[in-house]
Amino acid sequence: MNWLEIDKKHVWHPYNSLPSRNELLPVKSTNKTSIFLQTGEELIDGMSSWWSAIHGYNNPRLNEALKSQIDIMPHIMFGGIAHEKASILCEKLAKLTGLNSVFLCDSGSVSVEVALKTTIQYQEAKGLKKYKFIALKNAYHGDTLAAMSVCDPDNSMHSIYGSYLPKHIFTQAPKLGFDADCSESLKALEDTFEKHHNEVAGFILEPIVQGAGGMRIYNPDFLKKARELCTKYDILLIADEIATGFGHTGKMFACEWADIKPDIMTVGKGLTGGYMTMAAMITSKKISDTISNSQLGILMHGPTFMGNPLACSVAIESLNLLEEGSWKRNVQRIEEIFTKELENAKELTLVKDIRNIGAIGVIELEDDCYAQEIQDYCVKNGVWIRPFGKLIYSIVSYTIKEEDLTRIIRTMIQAIKSIKIK
Ligand SMILES: *Cc1c(COP(=O)(O)O)cnc(C)c1O
Repeated sequence: MNWLEIDKKHVWHPYNSLPSRNELLPVKSTNKTSIFLQTGEELIDGMSSWWSAIHGYNNPRLNEALKSQIDIMPHIMFGGIAHEKASILCEKLAKLTGLNSVFLCDSGSVSVEVALKTTIQYQEAKGLKKYKFIALKNAYHGDTLAAMSVCDPDNSMHSIYGSYLPKHIFTQAPKLGFDADCSESLKALEDTFEKHHNEVAGFILEPIVQGAGGMRIYNPDFLKKARELCTKYDILLIADEIATGFGHTGKMFACEWADIKPDIMTVGKGLTGGYMTMAAMITSKKISDTISNSQLGILMHGPTFMGNPLACSVAIESLNLLEEGSWKRNVQRIEEIFTKELENAKELTLVKDIRNIGAIGVIELEDDCYAQEIQDYCVKNGVWIRPFGKLIYSIVSYTIKEEDLTRIIRTMIQAIKSIKIK
């Protein structure tokens, strides 16, 4: 039996039926920003593997980081044990974020879980029984249950899970647009804090760009206000930088656009350059001190693969590459190309909006029924993108060549033009 047949019989794919309801692409290998199929075709990668492969595939420095670590120590439990690679990585993360205390996790969703638990434990340590979170409409924070409970209730179909999910408080998302007036949502936010602050432990948001919940770019003023309100009421501000972090918006972290520091930050996706599953939750020293000096005195989490040395090793090298700084010029160049090329989509009948920032480019359609058709067209023309609903978007590796990025965007636009409107 060929392995694609085995896949049809045994393998779940993300948000899918078994067997998969759509044809899957049999991938054989990757290199730089190319994906090579079993059938011999090459696709230019417009997704950077869900925004994680920021330095491209098979980057020699990242490959070497893994190869050298595997002979020393592929894994060791983290309970009761310390190792050099974890120390180096956590120091780097503390320096980069301006925060202090790092908890290494297995995936982005888990880092959000840990952030929520830490927030509750912090409030508990201060003698407060506060168990609610404020989150934004259109938010996406992951697929595990607690993370889901702070995702947009409609987008993530809370209704499927009945009464299982805890009910949190959702407030209006800021209006679309980096320069848009967000006074209405600021007012709503103020009202929400005033009304609920006694029961609220933390406010979680994706700074500057709401990712999987709508690819929405918004005004940094909203973040500034969020910081003020959280400080005023001693509600912890959790910045979920899993998608936006490590340069995707043109700053190392999107919080820098508003010049604010969150109390807790979650990072993932680009952390290991897309090589290994690893994420982190990073908090201020005040939070770790408060929890550590409380009666309970410990943070109640500890996964089996915490601090995996292979993942630490490749994450360190990915951060080294970022520290060397060429990402910034590259992301700027990518932003310029997106800005110029997306303009050609603006006037198309099906197009509702175009927007971009940093390495992120988005075309929003009027209708959500063309995603598969557009994906198929792009694949046929040598480009890998995976739209969701109305959103045809690309987030690319910082190392992508100008001509390849131009081809991705032009193919996306050609795909939209090729559609026969239903
Ligand atoms: C992808 C993502 C997550 C979840 O990360 P996983 O590694 O998929 O669990 C959480 N928050 C944001 C903002 C994300 O983009």
